[in-house]
Amino acid sequence: MKIICIGKNYLEHAKEMGDIAPEKPILFLKPDSAILPKRNPFYIPNFTNEVHHEVELIIKIKKLGKCINLNFAKEYYSEIGLGIDFTARDIQKKCKEKGHPWEIAKAFDQSAVISDSFIDINSLSDINFHLDKNGETVQKSNIKDMIFSIDEIIHYVSKYMTLKIGDLIFTGTPSGVGPVNIGDRLEGFINDKKMFTVNIK
Ligand code: ZN
Repeated sequence: MKIICIGKNYLEHAKEMGDIAPEKPILFLKPDSAILPKRNPFYIPNFTNEVHHEVELIIKIKKLGKCINLNFAKEYYSEIGLGIDFTARDIQKKCKEKGHPWEIAKAFDQSAVISDSFIDINSLSDINFHLDKNGETVQKSNIKDMIFSIDEIIHYVSKYMTLKIGDLIFTGTPSGVGPVNIGDRLEGFINDKKMFTVNIK
């Protein structure tokens, strides 16, 4: 399986990164080796001094598809989860300055938190989500605030790469990204249902 991530998919986050809304979805990948095993703590890697949390809605692909028509995109997913795209922001900044790819800042081991469970998206009338750090909400948004909708993302991504059953799409983070430190506790919620807890070590 592969993990496809979307960058700058919320206007306020694009702004906090000193950027504007992109004209097309921005894609990058994480390998399956980036998945943090369930209920494991996250150990801050020794190659970075600035790991940021990015809470994101995750879509699970349930049907093989390529060049998916926008009107049929809904047939390719029914479950939504929540995760964190851990980002070594100091390294990402250096990569951006040089125009290099971001992988070492985004695709490292344990950088992908994925909720234990997924929810049937059709059972939800609205999708709010938030991330708490040490009991205080630091990121909060609604699926409607995405610049590119899930269907638009699936349509766009599938032009370039075949989507396979079990592939995951991290749909971008809202504003409020910030550093994690040893001892922090991160908890993610969809509406008021807790989706994951991650302790930082
Ligand atoms: Zn992200």
